[in-house]
Amino acid sequence: MIKGLNILLVEDNPLNQKIVVFHLKKHQHQIHVSATGEDALSVFKQQHFDVVLMDLMLPGMDGYETTLRIRQMEMEDKQRPKSLIIALTANTLDNDRERCIQNGMDEFISKPFDMIKLNHILEKSFEKE
Ligand SMILES: [Mg+2]
Repeated sequence: MIKGLNILLVEDNPLNQKIVVFHLKKHQHQIHVSATGEDALSVFKQQHFDVVLMDLMLPGMDGYETTLRIRQMEMEDKQRPKSLIIALTANTLDNDRERCIQNGMDEFISKPFDMIKLNHILEKSFEKE
């Protein structure tokens, strides 16, 4: 089990925030919650996150745009390790998946939030490091 990652959750729905935070804390991850893409970008600018969990539907800047800007920030700062960005999607239509990948997301999981699925992704991405 992967523990102790630094995770940025970008999610505007208070109930979803609570559910995800509950599961992540149980696995001893450190978590910062942003309710908007704008807030997520200003937090991301200040510190590194191993993982970003990105809701797609956000008020103002959506999850696609926020992800694009995060990837731009990483490209402008070569010292900065790349974060794993996982989209949280309400559905798993092929269109959405394709757009996620085009915008620089690495993975996606569908809602309702499934900690088992997230753990599979985290194990795949971090276990060998
Ligand atoms: Mg939302």
